[in-house]
Amino acid sequence: MYRTHTCGALNIKNLKESVTLSGWIQTIRDKGFMIYIDLRDRYGITQLILDETRTPKELMEKARKLGREFVVQVKGEVIERESKNPKNPTGEIEILVSDITTLNTSQTPPFTIEDKTDGGEELRMKYRYLDIRRNPVKNNLIFRSKVAQIIRNYLSSEEFIEVETPYLIKSTPEGARDFVVPSRMNEKQFYALPQSPQTFKQLLMVGGLDKYFQIVKCFRDEDLRADRQPEFTQVDCEMSFVEQEDILNVFENLTKHILKEIKGIEIDTFPRITYDYAMKTYGNDKPDIRFGMKFHELNELMKGEGFPVFDNAELVVGINVENSANYTRKQIDALTNFVKTPQVGASGLVYIKYNEDSSIKSSVDKFYSPEKLKQVCDEFNANPGDLILILCGETNKVRTQLSMLRMELAEQLNLRNPKEFAPLWVVDFPLLEWDEETKRYHAMHHPFTAPKPEDISLLTDKPEQVRANAYDLVLNGNEIGGGSVRIYDKDIQAQMFDLLGFSKEEAENQFGFLMNAFKYGAPPHAGIAFGFDRLVSILGGQETIRDFIAFPKNNSGRDVMIDAPAYISEEQLEELNIKLK
Ligand code: ASP
Repeated sequence: MYRTHTCGALNIKNLKESVTLSGWIQTIRDKGFMIYIDLRDRYGITQLILDETRTPKELMEKARKLGREFVVQVKGEVIERESKNPKNPTGEIEILVSDITTLNTSQTPPFTIEDKTDGGEELRMKYRYLDIRRNPVKNNLIFRSKVAQIIRNYLSSEEFIEVETPYLIKSTPEGARDFVVPSRMNEKQFYALPQSPQTFKQLLMVGGLDKYFQIVKCFRDEDLRADRQPEFTQVDCEMSFVEQEDILNVFENLTKHILKEIKGIEIDTFPRITYDYAMKTYGNDKPDIRFGMKFHELNELMKGEGFPVFDNAELVVGINVENSANYTRKQIDALTNFVKTPQVGASGLVYIKYNEDSSIKSSVDKFYSPEKLKQVCDEFNANPGDLILILCGETNKVRTQLSMLRMELAEQLNLRNPKEFAPLWVVDFPLLEWDEETKRYHAMHHPFTAPKPEDISLLTDKPEQVRANAYDLVLNGNEIGGGSVRIYDKDIQAQMFDLLGFSKEEAENQFGFLMNAFKYGAPPHAGIAFGFDRLVSILGGQETIRDFIAFPKNNSGRDVMIDAPAYISEEQLEELNIKLK
């Protein structure tokens, strides 16, 4: 038997017991007449002690030959510690060692296996198995497992059936490129890895399963932005005989349940806002509503007063930064520089300081009377001490720019409290978006999303005005879930493919199986998928999803530990009938 207890189990109640422990050596402190060893496993750290008066000499010598990260088995007796460590659950006891067996040796690890390590990110990824021995990473993985368990239990108790769908499939369009896998047995043919199980879960509804879920890997070959992984995990769900309202209720309850179980937080009904309102008010379809700074459009108040920059702009829009009129010249310059950076792209920033003494000072005093500026302050319901910041330009662009400024200010003012959770639904997304580059409509969510019934008549003439029964669940400025009511009528689905520029043959070729299934009594259905990695990282109070993935890829999509992707042999290429240039 390797162990009677784990390294986190023993305490003062176990005094005088003979025990066997196994684990890794965290540290050895050799005081000459006394040796202390910290022995670690997943469950904790237990202190071992050997000393001249009680330990045979050979054993002391043996202990001195051990090194960091050696795997050992020790036998000994639980004794009371002289200097106790109340922070550690095993901190009141130690083990007086009577025997040590080395189960394995270890090279000196390339970074310290401590909570605060000296290892940089790339090095830790290369030796991820050592990184996982550290508490922060280990605890994140345990946390992830716990969240998965809660979700699984909840959905199972609501009669969802967990079904695995295949990975070797044909393209499922979610707007990214597919990862493809060559088929050896079918010359020149390729599988695609699923961008999501979208079509399969719809087929499960045609199959009558009624409620499906799966915690599932999805693959998207996208240009990697920071904190995106080419493979990631979704909690994927679908239900039959439901409307949007049913889905929002079921998954709002799931989210509430998770927040309650994990965070002990009870949240009332989630706010629901439309996509249009979100864009107009936050410049963003995933607004962080932990703080205010809502947009106010100022065209009526500020255009036509002789300030050419505003007069020539499509939209003049601003935010009120409460209690910030005391921003210095330097701070305002820094904000101006921020909005002028290429990634924001604004040409300048206008400020109005509503000072504590109710005087008003702005960067456009030359063009606007004090009364006019006061009216602008009133539009924001501003109080003395507030600072109003204004941008202008082309509507969509300026909204995005102001949204970036809003988030930047929230960071600066510490308004993004990771302990606070502010979920909301964004609904009524447009069905389609126009892509200037390809001169085509793209499905904003995916091609299986149903238009709102009242908008169907617009499909032929004004497709861009058609709204979808599509919804996102947003948490603290992150989209954590998204879904839609689906098309289940083969003719509307065909019309949709047509709108998206698929020829009949292409549609038949790619999605014939789905259209065919729709001929056999497809029920009305709808669903949603949660981004599990992101959900876990937000609940864990951190923003990087890599920290919650056991073996993540780096920013260039590489696994630096196993060194993938990699070249394959000539023989393999030949077998697959692939010729490289
Ligand atoms: N398949 C969709 C996605 O991956 C989710 C859904 O519509 O259920 O975003």
